Amino acid sequence: MGGHRGGDRGTQGGEEESPGMTRHLFVTGGVVSSLGKGLTSASIGMLLESRGLRVRMQKLDPYINVDPGTMSPYQHGEVYVLDDGSETDLDLGHYERFTSTPLTRACNYTTGQIYLSVINKERRGEFLGKTVQVIPHITNEIKEVIKALAGPDTDLVITEIGGTVGDIESLPFLEAIRQIPLEVGRENCMFIHLTLVPYLKAAGELKTKPTQHSVGILRQIGIQPDVLVCRTERPLDTSDREKIALFCNVPLDAVIEERDKDFSIYEVPLSLQSNRIDDLVLRRFGRQAPPADLGEWHEILHRLRNPEHEVSIALVGKYAEHRDAYKSIYEALDHGGIAHRTQVRVQPIKSEDIEREGAERLLAGFDGLVVPGGFGERGIEGKVEAIGFARRRRLPFLGICLGMQCAVIELARNGAGLADAHSTEFNRSTPHPVICLMDEQRSVTDKGGTMRLGAQPAELAEGSRSAVAYGRTRITERHRHRYEFNMKYRSVLEEAGLVIAGTSPDGGLVEIVELADHPWFVAVQFHPEFKSKPTAAHPLFAGLVAAAVERHAGSAWVAET
Ligand code: GLN
Repeated sequence: MGGHRGGDRGTQGGEEESPGMTRHLFVTGGVVSSLGKGLTSASIGMLLESRGLRVRMQKLDPYINVDPGTMSPYQHGEVYVLDDGSETDLDLGHYERFTSTPLTRACNYTTGQIYLSVINKERRGEFLGKTVQVIPHITNEIKEVIKALAGPDTDLVITEIGGTVGDIESLPFLEAIRQIPLEVGRENCMFIHLTLVPYLKAAGELKTKPTQHSVGILRQIGIQPDVLVCRTERPLDTSDREKIALFCNVPLDAVIEERDKDFSIYEVPLSLQSNRIDDLVLRRFGRQAPPADLGEWHEILHRLRNPEHEVSIALVGKYAEHRDAYKSIYEALDHGGIAHRTQVRVQPIKSEDIEREGAERLLAGFDGLVVPGGFGERGIEGKVEAIGFARRRRLPFLGICLGMQCAVIELARNGAGLADAHSTEFNRSTPHPVICLMDEQRSVTDKGGTMRLGAQPAELAEGSRSAVAYGRTRITERHRHRYEFNMKYRSVLEEAGLVIAGTSPDGGLVEIVELADHPWFVAVQFHPEFKSKPTAAHPLFAGLVAAAVERHAGSAWVAET
């Protein structure tokens, strides 16, 4: 906590510059969920980084699961995996895509983790016979995890509180952030509240009352927001803003409109900047900073608005209808599009629909196929069939994790003549277990945090498509799986055309497979989507989009019949 100073020693009103001290910015949300707090927090982080601040970011989630790793994608959307192997909330994906802040296990806590830690301390007798209570023990634990991100290398910690103000379960988090200013100085803290200003058709006007109520709840708890970011479909006029300012007790210039963005999420930071949110934060903390250079972001939007090509990619997965389950994949495909000035239209297709209606029918006309990661048997045969179609029809294909495993199963069955080849995840008694459990996974019974997780190095084969795309042969990518390519089948699959394009450095685990005689057939055991950025598309997504553009143009390869 080296970066903190006693509250009474800070500067009042923040006119004076005091670098070396970590400031805290808290982002809360009110009225409804799904307001885009994660995107807003990430955008604010990006704007402040671009003004020279060293920012750390953190999300605190009020649910009781220890992490989202054991939650259904229907409930929670994708599980976002960090380098250190922590399984985190998908908002951390926004943080990584928008900023360069280092993310670790310390950047995402849940109520479950906080309680687990407090209960473990209680079992070890660390509370010396005291009654352990929500206040102060749970709130102290929360304050510790917030303050743990402060330090001499950090100017600002942005802490996003999940959930909606007024929920019972977020109360301990709000109480903890109410207390932080008492320790580090109110002038070193800033509260930004994201709220909804709905448009009522019947009345023909925007309604500020939900915002007033939401801020009212915060003020009852003892938190006076400094800035209100108002999500709205229609522009706020001056009288709306004046009303919000007066009733919510904030200055007029701290009522910020954040209009719905139908075009791209990458507009959000630019729109917040035009409302000068970065200036508000800097002013509050008495920091002078050069103006932000957002040239790169303007270029991203320029490319998105003026594409030179257009491709359609089928995303065949179990949860196809549920966009959040594949959040980072959608983003990474967009990034591939930005890199190649291409509008990428992604069509989700449920793999079970392929089982019913056939790949020939559902995949005709696409320029590329992505089969994402997943767990469980439902829809597996549809994925295998879709990949077979891509292999035969020379459709550009990117397989991710389970998508790679399905590619191996497909080639084993239909290219190498290994009837009923399967993964032992789905058929324990398959005669050809081409995908099987890793040795270290055999004795594991706990579900949470027990897979092969996080960043692992891999060596790529010289001249493989992947090595060319990456432009190097040593890579590090993030993993989240239990099952692996079964090396016993290596040579028979190689004879059938499989190229082992990447392995773990000791050669023991297969990380990438390709097909030599195919324009773009690359399947990986890891999750490249977690390392793609709008400013730097992941090479495998960029490669897929480039191949899809060529396919669309019909230049190099005509579909075999
Ligand atoms: N279910 C597979 C495994 O555990 C794939 C996991 C994934 O796609 N993330 O290996």
